[in-house]
Amino acid sequence: MGKSADYTKYDDELYQVALLKNDEIAPGVYVLSLPRLHDFKAGQVVKIGLPEGEPPRMYSICSGEKEDELKILFNVKGGGWLTPRLAKLQPGDSILISEPMGDFTGDDEPAWWVASGTGIAPFYSMFKSGLGTNKTVVHGGRYLQNFYFEDEFLPELKDQYIRCCSQEKGGDVYHGRLTHFLEDQNNLPKDQKFYLCGSPEMVVETRDLLIRKGIPYGNIVAEIYF
Ligand SMILES: Cc1cc2nc3c(=O)[nH]c(=O)nc-3n(C[C@H](O)[C@H](O)[C@H](O)COP(=O)(O)OP(=O)(O)OC[C@H]3O[C@@H](n4cnc5c(N)ncnc54)[C@H](O)[C@@H]3O)c2cc1C
Repeated sequence: MGKSADYTKYDDELYQVALLKNDEIAPGVYVLSLPRLHDFKAGQVVKIGLPEGEPPRMYSICSGEKEDELKILFNVKGGGWLTPRLAKLQPGDSILISEPMGDFTGDDEPAWWVASGTGIAPFYSMFKSGLGTNKTVVHGGRYLQNFYFEDEFLPELKDQYIRCCSQEKGGDVYHGRLTHFLEDQNNLPKDQKFYLCGSPEMVVETRDLLIRKGIPYGNIVAEIYF
């Protein structure tokens, strides 16, 4: 590990590490494994970049606070600069990473974790860091293959783990968007926090419907992947 010679052109200090693993867990969706250089709080983000090219982009850390490896869950954006390149990386390739940052962090109070797509990453980190008990997880995805880490969430959270699939039907999975699922709920707890993470469209729509249903604005916390 060493500091990138080029890091000074960015605001945040970037460290160069060698990639440990790059697993495609669904078509176009990858988990990168990197050495963990710094302590972090579950829910925080890092900037990720390559030694040459465009400035780094932000990614939620997708691993537990005590794990040796730091993981990132990302999907390839068509026409994007970084993600098509990340998808091609092989173990040993160089990658730049910042120190962890951000305050989208959880606690051990009962709460709802609402995610679309790769927005499940910070909640998986919280779950792997021991904050999963007393949480209700609502995960929205287009296809059944988009419920990343369901093998771990389901046995622990049971019916407190709700998958909402908009394009396919399957078993115990709610058929429809997560906003429709939430709209159908009549007894959302007004005294719990709702953490939202994912696309701007999902976050804005969910925020508005929660407010309509009487959830105090102060109990809605959001991380937007824009
Ligand atoms: C706090 C935060 C956390 C995030 N965490 C995650 C995460 O955990 N996982 C994850 O997958 N993503 C995450 N993101 C999103 C991530 O930072 C990147 O934006 C994303 O991966 C796309 O990067 P890219 O370089 O591939 O695409 P970019 O090059 O940034 O392009 C993004 C999209 O915009 C389009 N585009 C680019 N330029 C133009 C233009 N001039 N006109 C029109 N369209 C254009 C591209 O075609 C592409 O579809 C997070 C974002 C934030 C802010």
